[in-house]
Amino acid sequence: MTEIPRSHPRYLSLVMRERLVEMMHRGIVSEAGLIAHGRGEAFDYLIGERTNDFAMEAEKAGVAALLLAEKPVISVNGNAAALAGKELIDLGGLTDARIEVNLFHRTEDRVEKIVRYLESLGGKDILGPEPDARVPGLEHARGLCHKDGIYHADVVLVPLEDGDRSQALKKMGKTVVTIDLNPLSRTAKTADITIVDNITRAAPNMVEIAGKMRQASPEKLMSIIEKYSNIIVLKSALACMCGNIRAIDE
Ligand code: ATP
Ligand code: MG
Repeated sequence: MTEIPRSHPRYLSLVMRERLVEMMHRGIVSEAGLIAHGRGEAFDYLIGERTNDFAMEAEKAGVAALLLAEKPVISVNGNAAALAGKELIDLGGLTDARIEVNLFHRTEDRVEKIVRYLESLGGKDILGPEPDARVPGLEHARGLCHKDGIYHADVVLVPLEDGDRSQALKKMGKTVVTIDLNPLSRTAKTADITIVDNITRAAPNMVEIAGKMRQASPEKLMSIIEKYSNIIVLKSALACMCGNIRAIDE
């Protein structure tokens, strides 16, 4: 791995890039995953590379939805595992959500490798290999999933997800929570709760929120969801980006 000096102004971002490249060579991240990350980084610049209020509000609503769910599932792909594997496992533990490795560019070999990687971080009972169900409307390997996981889930957290797949999950009647830096993506627009934040910040934030919120009553959790408006959150994210762009002139 290339040595990155800590003093570099973009240290964190460079470390993440190096990690993804390394994880690609280990067969955990797909080649297309590197392109997706670059897309995410561009939007991260536009929101100021910080957790803004609109993201924090969505993170709280997302945790409340997971805690209220009967069968919550966290779907993990290569990028999510590489960037926030440990935090997603911890979030699963705190919200009683099952972890399912589910890939857009699915190969059984990559599913296995990601499961083993998550196990090395402390993950248990992770679904992924030997899928036994299929999301209607998704062709080929893209639709494969598990009955004990995504197929029967009522609430799914699908970070860094593709638009078609999010739409298919919505059509199945699920509550979809996503983490996606692009507020204009089809996933961002389809989801019930869209967290416009980098997964490297969103996942640890959600772990902290879940630690506090799991004591809350169902009524309290319900009131958080009822007050939440995804369209307002998406508009706030776009307004934030526009404001940051305009600020360059000032
Ligand atoms: P869509 O299919 O939803 O219209 P897309 O085809 O551009 O979007 P996908 O590759 O299908 O994108 O999904 C990946 C999404 O994840 C992108 O919107 C990208 O901006 C976002 N993303 C990439 N890296 C991160 C990250 N580190 N944190 C949060 N979001 C990210
Ligand atoms: Mg896509």
